[in-house]
Amino acid sequence: MIYNEEFETLPREALKALQAKRLQQVLQRVYHTVGYYKKSLTAAKISPDDIRSLDDLKKIPFITRQDLRNNYPFGLFAVPMSNIVRLHASSGTSGRSSVFGYTKRDIETWTDLIARSLVAAGLTKNDIVHNAFSYGLPPGGLGLHYGIEKIGASVIPMSDGNTKRQITLLQDFGPTVLCSTPSYALHLAQEGTAMGVDMKSLQLRVGIFGGDLWSDTTRDAIENAFGIKALNIFGLSEMMGPGLAMECLEGRHGMHIFEDHFIVETINPETGKILPEGEEGELVFTSLTKEAFPLVRYRSGDISRLITEPCRCGRTHIRMERVLKRSDDMLTIRGINIFPVQVEAILKAIEGVEPDYQLIIDKVGALDAVELHVEVGEKFFSESGGVKELQNIEKRIVKDMKDYLSISPRVKLVAPQTLRGKSKRVIDKRSI
Ligand code: ZN
Repeated sequence: MIYNEEFETLPREALKALQAKRLQQVLQRVYHTVGYYKKSLTAAKISPDDIRSLDDLKKIPFITRQDLRNNYPFGLFAVPMSNIVRLHASSGTSGRSSVFGYTKRDIETWTDLIARSLVAAGLTKNDIVHNAFSYGLPPGGLGLHYGIEKIGASVIPMSDGNTKRQITLLQDFGPTVLCSTPSYALHLAQEGTAMGVDMKSLQLRVGIFGGDLWSDTTRDAIENAFGIKALNIFGLSEMMGPGLAMECLEGRHGMHIFEDHFIVETINPETGKILPEGEEGELVFTSLTKEAFPLVRYRSGDISRLITEPCRCGRTHIRMERVLKRSDDMLTIRGINIFPVQVEAILKAIEGVEPDYQLIIDKVGALDAVELHVEVGEKFFSESGGVKELQNIEKRIVKDMKDYLSISPRVKLVAPQTLRGKSKRVIDKRSI
């Protein structure tokens, strides 16, 4: 089944023509409404009128995550706040996170793209969907939610956490579909088995997973643990949230990028040069239909490869392979994207903490666990009464990491100079 037959199977020529037309429209709009674009296009000596075809896209400068941060919180919005109906945001302290605005129509477009994704996974109104993506500032939970309702399926708005309750409801409500990060799915399977539940005897038949980097080995593990078909959904908060690309039931052959709403390019992350379709590189996205927060040539940092061969499902939209690595130092911990620079900003604001730290990430069971080693001043190790102060610093670090980044690390305070000279700030021991 295809949700939007007309657009999802548009012949490629017509699709390209539609993209070109929409690109011109979005450029005119951002040029006249967003100061950033007027400045960056002027600096590149181009005007929106110079962009006549998709081939002209390469003349437009990239926009990066740093540009988003520089315009925190609403500097890149293309509509007045009175037209915004929802805000989502990435984690991070003030000025180090990004804010994403949506108009009413943006929410409708997003809902439609999620509906497309769900139908691509074989969902119908007869399905009951256990949605364990996080509800809140990250766009995962709510994004999926409205699409599930749109196709008439029943949604259980579980969010993440409360694992025992989740397992109880998986038994009692008999959902047929599970949506979550892949690591949380594995965690549910392990906890359920430990509770004596036969996870294969649940009603689940398909799972839609995203938000973490995950490999086909993890996919096999999830499919075996639940006895389901596991499909990959892809999204970027900067572009909208989940539903930018989705695997069809042909499965394991990449995710269709909804090209009537987005343009994708692959570039060499070092030089910024456009690579031929099919070569591995950093994906760059342009949103064509967003009203509130359109981004033109956004460097995602995700490394992948585009698949140009036609898909057996009949959809004409290009596919991308799963993302297995990044071009930058972004870490995804329990589905949350964080940067070492955000950790630094948190530590810097705490008195008594020295600049050196080390972040160690590993798996405990199926879930990510973080250990944070932080240097503190000499005096805490010499003065009497330092123990109490050390405990306070430790508590503050744990609390700020939780409050700003939604990460709960195990903190270990160490003496000055302990970490100096250690070349690696981040040690990621996880295999995906
Ligand atoms: Zn397909």
